[in-house]
Amino acid sequence: MTGYDPQRLHEALLRVRRTISEACERAGRAPGEVRLVAVSKTHPVEAIAILYELGVRDFGESYVQELVDKVGRLPNDIRWHFIGGLQSNKARFLGNEISLLHSVDRTSLIEALQRRSEQPMDILLQVNVAAEATKGGTSPDQLVALYDCARSQSKLTVRGLMTMAPYCDDPESSRGHFRVLRALLDELRTHAGEGVASALSELSMGMSDDFAVAIEEGATLVRVGTALFGDRQSD
Ligand SMILES: *Cc1c(COP(=O)(O)O)cnc(C)c1O
Repeated sequence: MTGYDPQRLHEALLRVRRTISEACERAGRAPGEVRLVAVSKTHPVEAIAILYELGVRDFGESYVQELVDKVGRLPNDIRWHFIGGLQSNKARFLGNEISLLHSVDRTSLIEALQRRSEQPMDILLQVNVAAEATKGGTSPDQLVALYDCARSQSKLTVRGLMTMAPYCDDPESSRGHFRVLRALLDELRTHAGEGVASALSELSMGMSDDFAVAIEEGATLVRVGTALFGDRQSD
């Protein structure tokens, strides 16, 4: 059986959930503080449906058209997360479909979301902590300005921050980047002030190779694809 054997997906889910609870234990955190987002980009609805049957409700997608196709074919209590780079002209497709947009990284996108989205949206600001040319995300020194721009939009609520650590074989190499993101969230909460700070609670960090480290450093959302579904054919 190739690919999406239910038994294999079940075992993968159990492994990931066990890794999450062990990391929580090491960090003295309650497992309920960490949400697993199953990154289903490029994988078919049949595979998503298997994890859905096993209780997973949060799924992450990176391409607008693929997301829209899948939403219509799967149960409507799924919480969809958009985690990919987003062109401003696609902004209007997302408002109705997703529960959280992880990848807001520039003021032009914030303005497009405000202008084009039909619904209020919860968003995360993506930070390019390692300043990698190939990745999206604002630089840390522009973060406060980006936040102020988002905060002034009636349709948007900033829930926290997201980052991708540089790819590396050693998960420990991600730890410093995750620490920086956490420190940036603390600074932003101070900047936001009483009352608003409590809404800024999410840290979306950690992927298949480094989500245990991310949880030790405070992740509230981990985005896990390959460790659940296996390798992607294309990306
Ligand atoms: C694809 C993707 C993931 C999942 O990566 P895996 O290594 O397969 O777990 C997580 N976050 C983002 C932003 C992605 O694009």
